[in-house]
Amino acid sequence: MADLMKGKRGLVMGVANERSIAWGIASALHAEGAELAFSYQGEAFGKRVEPLAASVGSDFLIDVDVTNDDSLDGAFAQLKDRWGSIDFLIHAIAFSDKSELAGRFINTSRANFKHSLDISCYSLIDVSRRASELMPEGGSIVTLTYGGSNRVTPFYNVMGVAKAALEASVRYLANDLGPQAIRVNAVSPGPMKTLAGAAIGGARKTFRHTEANAPLRHNATLESVGGAAVFLCSDYGNCTTGDILMVDSGYHVLGMPQPENI
Ligand code: NAD
Repeated sequence: MADLMKGKRGLVMGVANERSIAWGIASALHAEGAELAFSYQGEAFGKRVEPLAASVGSDFLIDVDVTNDDSLDGAFAQLKDRWGSIDFLIHAIAFSDKSELAGRFINTSRANFKHSLDISCYSLIDVSRRASELMPEGGSIVTLTYGGSNRVTPFYNVMGVAKAALEASVRYLANDLGPQAIRVNAVSPGPMKTLAGAAIGGARKTFRHTEANAPLRHNATLESVGGAAVFLCSDYGNCTTGDILMVDSGYHVLGMPQPENI
């Protein structure tokens, strides 16, 4: 590996375990020389994240619930106290009540709609505003989305709406923060075997369907998503903002399944 991220440091939000997309990204950023801080949600996840962080040379862990302003205030105060500034932020956070990631979208409840959009979309706006205050020399913010944002995917339901709102937020944030040399982009992998991924009804079928039909005939890997995030956080990505970078083995170009699968 080269040193594409040498001298850069940033916060990775959303590692739950070694299968998390955020962990794939953290590993790739570390391999390119980045210095990392991690946020985790609650003590139980903290115990899992601690050894992972240590394996990439980090002892900078912050407990954050993105629905709680005090928690976010404390987290960004810690970042400011210890580092003063950051160069990148990875936002790999989403949540919806599992019971509504099955069945029909039309049955989405008001409470879960609000909660899902708050955690999965509003949190990006909130952390981008806070992170931008710690990026005096510019920086890069990367979030994670999924193609269910603009094409109906069985059981993705309210998460599809949350991801559509997230992708629109990426464009508005990119425009607001562009004059400060802060870039905002999303990486859009195909289905991956993670905790959040497993919560979606029919996850295994979606995984197998994408593998069988994507032009490259395989699913995205933690390494491929990590590499895409490195590009977006490195200086090579310095003319890319407001974009959705597809890392789905080409699945999004299809109009219908491959002939052998019909
Ligand atoms: P994951 O379960 O490993 O990560 C989700 C993270 O969100 C967890 O670390 C969890 O603690 C965090 N989180 C949820 N609610 C939170 C809150 N209130 N405060 C702070 N953190 C909170 O699953 P993942 O698949 O790695 O998900 C990461 C991102 O990637 C999500 O945005 C997800 O939608 C997206 N994504 C996933 C897939 C997939 O198939 N797994 C595909 C495309 C995009």
